[in-house]
Amino acid sequence: MAGKDRREWRVTGMDCAACVTKVTRALAPLPGVSGVDVALMAERLTLQLAPGTTPPEVIEARVKALGYGIAAKAAPQGEDPWYRTGKGRLVVVSGLVLVLAWGLAWLMPQVATGAFALACLIGLAPVARRAAVALWMGQPFTIESLMTLAALGALWIGAAEEAALVVFLFAVGEVLEGLATAKARDGIRALVALVPKTAWVEAGGLHEVPAAALQIGQVILVRPGDRIPADGTILEGVSGVDESPVTGESLPRLRAPGDAVFAGSINTEAALRITVTRGAEDNTIARIIRLVSEAEESRAPTERFIDRFSRWYMPAIVGLSALVVILPPLALGADWQVWTYRGLALLLIGCPCALVISVPASVASALSSGARRGLLLKGGAAVEAAAGVRSIAFDKTGTLTEGHPRVTDVVAFGPSSEAEILTLAAAVEAGSGHPLARAILQRAAGLALPQAQAARAWPGRGVTAMVGGVEVAVTAPQHVPDLGAHQAVVAALEAEGKTTVVVLRAGVALGLIAMQDSLRPDARAAMDRLRGLGLVPIMLTGDNPRTAAAMAGALGIDFRAGLLPEDKLAHIRGMEAVMMVGDGINDAPALKQARIGVAMGSGSDVALETAEAAILRDRVGDVAGLVELARATMANIRQNVALALGLKAVFLVTSILGLTGLWLAILADTGATVLVTLNALRLLRFDPKD
Ligand code: ADP
Ligand code: MG
Repeated sequence: MAGKDRREWRVTGMDCAACVTKVTRALAPLPGVSGVDVALMAERLTLQLAPGTTPPEVIEARVKALGYGIAAKAAPQGEDPWYRTGKGRLVVVSGLVLVLAWGLAWLMPQVATGAFALACLIGLAPVARRAAVALWMGQPFTIESLMTLAALGALWIGAAEEAALVVFLFAVGEVLEGLATAKARDGIRALVALVPKTAWVEAGGLHEVPAAALQIGQVILVRPGDRIPADGTILEGVSGVDESPVTGESLPRLRAPGDAVFAGSINTEAALRITVTRGAEDNTIARIIRLVSEAEESRAPTERFIDRFSRWYMPAIVGLSALVVILPPLALGADWQVWTYRGLALLLIGCPCALVISVPASVASALSSGARRGLLLKGGAAVEAAAGVRSIAFDKTGTLTEGHPRVTDVVAFGPSSEAEILTLAAAVEAGSGHPLARAILQRAAGLALPQAQAARAWPGRGVTAMVGGVEVAVTAPQHVPDLGAHQAVVAALEAEGKTTVVVLRAGVALGLIAMQDSLRPDARAAMDRLRGLGLVPIMLTGDNPRTAAAMAGALGIDFRAGLLPEDKLAHIRGMEAVMMVGDGINDAPALKQARIGVAMGSGSDVALETAEAAILRDRVGDVAGLVELARATMANIRQNVALALGLKAVFLVTSILGLTGLWLAILADTGATVLVTLNALRLLRFDPKD
């Protein structure tokens, strides 16, 4: 297989998912082209191109011929005002000629028909051209071809004035649809605007440089009141930092030297000197934006269904209108003129725009609405999954608890001193990132630690390493074969909700270290909220049953304890419609296995990348917020589909009965598209009560 390049373009002027189909089908058959993906809301075209086959210029020319703008990929940017677009010009031109025709018809009624016909043809020309191009590319059923056929048909039966009006209304509709989708896109663009364009760099004095040019390791100065231009670590200064733009956390947090800060946050109090830790295209906000805009690729099952439905809907309606034109006159001797008119009106009902946009518009609004509140959902599939879950499995450490345990007791079983036990444990844990490891290291700060070799983590059990040529293990007590009389000490500590680990040297238990992690302050309220949503929360943990029972009891939820990572996995597999919430670090397999995995943790890399959804604020309550957002989105989608299909059904009947004519048919399609998009935009204001 020859190498393939992934190519990316920005395609403008798509305001309807039918456009997506059109572009996809026009490019897919080209030699060397595969994996064509068009994202409507992100205006992005990506495909794999085998080098030396189709030149990229040919791809660009094809897209242009269909009537869209195409440019090499650039960052999301503002769109042209509507009157500067091709579709806008069409409105102005077809409107003008229509007004002229009306004027002429009033002055000289004998030339009226000719004037309207001319107005219709002028407005129709660009539409007909696009229809012809699509036809030539093997796509007979496009909105443009329906329009062209309907307008020409109307001219033919002498309804010239209506034909001209229909062309004008079609043009207006296209512009309105464009405006509405542009509004939906703004949500994502607003995120980009959060990061300041320039930064003050310290390099032999202060220099203002573009934020995009910042290098990792540079030191920048952020004055009080300014937005932070890069992800970084505070070098000097203590100040309240408002991270609400990134994580949705509305209270400013006090940040001191050594703390991480996100680009886009607001420095509220004092000047900060910050070391840049990530380049502009890689900072948290940039990653969120990429995630939200790429999320479109993961389509909701409902959306795929609607796509399939609309694929046969258009041809079916065309067939039906042909029958309406032919059958009544032939079978019943009805008037040809009347039934041709009704058939043409029916053609216009065949535009599936409102229907096709109903899902992506809602999903796009929901994703950007969520992103601004620290609730990230990776696409329609994640939304639909989150809306449909019935139970929620929580990891304990770092999810239901703060994840910052403190050492409370060190107990020696034999002659070893507490300091000796702590020193050995800390030496072994030095290589581990587990929250318990951090607690032990923190307590051992100041002690001289011996060097450990061949350190190894046993997920869900503990760690081992060689210290001074002897194997030392720090292990969960339930995985230590024989603790004998010490078991009682362990049990007593665990009953207090403490987590204990046993320190062993050459297989001999020297003593234990007990740690306590506190529940997140909002965990209890969050469980009540979840139950209020009809969901069943459950805690899955590798910790021992007694500690787990103490914590689960405080939360009033069920639990399973002593689980190894593979047990967690098996448990998740055994549950239906389950959402797994974890800190994203050691729960990756369980997160993947669940119907939907939610990673919790502010801006942690793993959290953002492993799961289908992420919560940026460290609040358990946001899990409920996420489900509420997902459910609101699905409700919104159902309203949209009902509205789109309902209007179509009504006009299908009224057109056949002859109650409504051509221009109402086209108005109904445009109106439905605009209504559906406006309804989707309501999700931008979604606010989970917390
Ligand atoms: P949780 O399910 O609470 O996130 P883990 O699966 O990470 O817990 O760990 C389960 C148990 O294994 C811990 O309670 C602890 O006893 C032990 N353990 C895991 N990693 C370590 C470590 N680095 N140091 C000490 N003990 C560990
Ligand atoms: Mg864990």
